Amino acid sequence: MSHASSVLLLFVDGLGIGTRGAHNPLARLGAEASPFDIFDGEEPALPFGGVLAPTDARLGVEGRPQSASGQTTILTGTNAPAALGYHKQGFPNEELREIINAHSIFLQLKRAGVEEITFANAYTPRFFNARPRWVSATTTAVEAAGLSFRTLEDLRAGRAVYQDFTNGMLIASGFDVEQRTPEEAAEVLARVAAENRFTLYEYFLTDRAGHAQDEEAALRILANLARLVRATLARLDLSRTTVVLTSDHGNVEDLSTRSHTLNPVPTLAWGAARETVRRRVSDLSHVTPAILEVLGERAAQNA
Ligand SMILES: [Zn+2]
Repeated sequence: MSHASSVLLLFVDGLGIGTRGAHNPLARLGAEASPFDIFDGEEPALPFGGVLAPTDARLGVEGRPQSASGQTTILTGTNAPAALGYHKQGFPNEELREIINAHSIFLQLKRAGVEEITFANAYTPRFFNARPRWVSATTTAVEAAGLSFRTLEDLRAGRAVYQDFTNGMLIASGFDVEQRTPEEAAEVLARVAAENRFTLYEYFLTDRAGHAQDEEAALRILANLARLVRATLARLDLSRTTVVLTSDHGNVEDLSTRSHTLNPVPTLAWGAARETVRRRVSDLSHVTPAILEVLGERAAQNA
């Protein structure tokens, strides 16, 4: 099974396909933003042979797309806003947790016989010591599938990546960890992805910068995230690994408003099965089925 295919799913919160202009930090960054220099009505030039599937985040439901229902949709393949009748902000409620508990991508892969499934993000001791009352869609999905959380011990040993992959926020909070360049974080992420059939990594500072309408933070965060993605792609064997990047709703691509946008989001794909992803994905509910097809299809070929 050493040549079995694998998927790395990079989830970036609050990244839509916007228009060029002073409101869009991706336009300011230019090539430094690659692969995020994607604009409405333009054919993007993606590095490493990447392809774009513009992806509807509105899902046929009135209002602005939101995090809890969008993330639940990405992670389950269920149209969560349609199930709820509205777009749910922030953290999943009981109804969304039930959808995740029954249908998360982790569980669907397990049922399909795909072992070696992991969430690459590290959690701080605070999460284990004083469990927060509200937890994210990803945390809910990890728990429901009985996966273990990576810790700061894993991070120090080069086996995990923090949500702020430079470790800057951890260091500012007094944790004894080393600062990482985006390339050093990519080294770890690529290694975790190479050791697993399915790896998820979550990044959400993009959404924070969008809500804060903080251009300086947005430029810094997006340039660093672009470096992380490019360096991860450079380190992976793309004949074996398919990398999928998607978002739950637009936000940081339009700093003229503090709200989420109605823009489509970019689903990007690289590697062996990139065309399967491009063909299958046109709204957020297609991400999980596309990944299942990629891993199932390739498993069948290898059998
Ligand atoms: Zn979000």
